[in-house]
Order: sequence, then C-alpha cells, then structure tokens
Amino acid sequence: MNSIAENLKRIADSLPEGVKLVAVSKTKPVEAIEEAYNAGQRVFGENRAQELAEKYEVLPKDIEWHLIGHLQTNKVKYVAGFVAMIHGVESLKLLETIDKEAKKHNRVIPCLLQFHVAKEETKFGLNMEEARELLESESYANMKNVRIEGVMGMATFTDDLVQVQEEFRHLKRIFNELKQQYFADKSEFKELSMGMSGDYKIAVEEGSTMVRVGSSIFGARQYKAIEN
Ligand SMILES: *Cc1c(COP(=O)(O)O)cnc(C)c1O
Repeated sequence: MNSIAENLKRIADSLPEGVKLVAVSKTKPVEAIEEAYNAGQRVFGENRAQELAEKYEVLPKDIEWHLIGHLQTNKVKYVAGFVAMIHGVESLKLLETIDKEAKKHNRVIPCLLQFHVAKEETKFGLNMEEARELLESESYANMKNVRIEGVMGMATFTDDLVQVQEEFRHLKRIFNELKQQYFADKSEFKELSMGMSGDYKIAVEEGSTMVRVGSSIFGARQYKAIEN
C-alpha cells in the first residue's frame, strides 16, 4: 500500500480547484493524522464527537475539524467550542442544540443539512418536507449561533454507478431548490458535501464542493462500528 502522504497527494491532485478535501480519520490513531498533517493536510473529519474532541486536544490547533456523521444532541457539547463545520444536521432539535451550545462559546457554527438520497433505509437525513419545516420554523428564524452553509448526503453503497450518479444529482437539485427558495441572498450557502472513497470522482463530476475521503487515504478501517 502507498503511504498516507502519497495517497493524499494523488487524491488532492485529482480534485478540481475549489473542491475541499476532508480527510476522514475516524478510528485512525493520532500518528496517522500527524502523517497527513506533515504532508500538508489541514482539514480532517471524524464521525464521533468524543473521539474528535480527544484528537483535537493533542493535535496542532490549526487543524480544521469537521464532524461528518450522525450526531446525538447530548454530544454536541464536546465539539461546540472548536468544530469548523457540522455536516450531519438532520433535525430541528439537533440544530437547536448546536445553536445553544455555540452560544455558550460565543461562536457561530457552520452547518450542513443532511439529506437522505440513498436507497438504504439505514442512512440518516432529512427529506424536502422536513427541511422546509425546519427552515420555516420560528425557532430557526431566531437562531443566531448557527449558519447553514449547504447540504450533505451519502449515496447508496453499490457498484451501480448510474444509481450513485442519480443520487448525487438528486442532492444537487435539492441544493439548488433550497438556494433559490431560502438562501438566494446568502453567499455562504454554497457547499455540496458529497463523495467518499468509493464515489468521490462521480460526486465531483456532479458538482460536489467537499469530498469526505477516509479509507483511500488512511487504508481500510480495522473495525466498522456503527457507521452512517
Ligand atoms: C466514514 C465516512 C466517510 C469516509 O468513508 P470512506 O469510504 O472511508 O472514504 C465519509 N462520510 C461519512 C459521513 C462517513 O461516516
């Protein structure tokens, strides 16, 4: 297998300008992250709040940490003081909690609304109706410590590339619709977080602005505890 630095370089070189690479380091030791850091990578993603907080403590403070997976409301407090972006917002309740915790730190936390576009039932995310309800709620109108900057989604885990492409197109249509109806005058609403190791090339072709790549950089994960 290639080194982490080689993998990073290969992937980063393949991305068009303007597409951010989030190196997904979940389950990987601090040493692996340091190797990527020394190769120049500064943006990392984790899917568990406590693991993220532990790694934040011991690693350089110029790392931009993204929380990418399903997040329980009672875990928001572990990351609210420093997290650069929360990708997996899939309920009003979660957004309310992020707003409340961010306020304690006098911060505004950038967030992405997660949509369910895959065939798999197990994946998390909003549908359009739920998103509208959230965006039209009085509670959201009053939030001052969160900023919705786009959408995030995961395609079905399948070899059927046409299906994956369709799902990414669906997410892009959702992005466009929300942009037009709710964020037309908000320049910060610009992120389309889609694409992982197996499908980031398709995602980029379909307009992704952020790819979340783990195993293609760090190698396969040892354990596959509840991923989402
Ligand atoms: C684990 C994970 C990734 C990265 O997956 P790889 O297949 O290892 O690239 C991306 N996004 C989310 C939400 C994840 O949980």
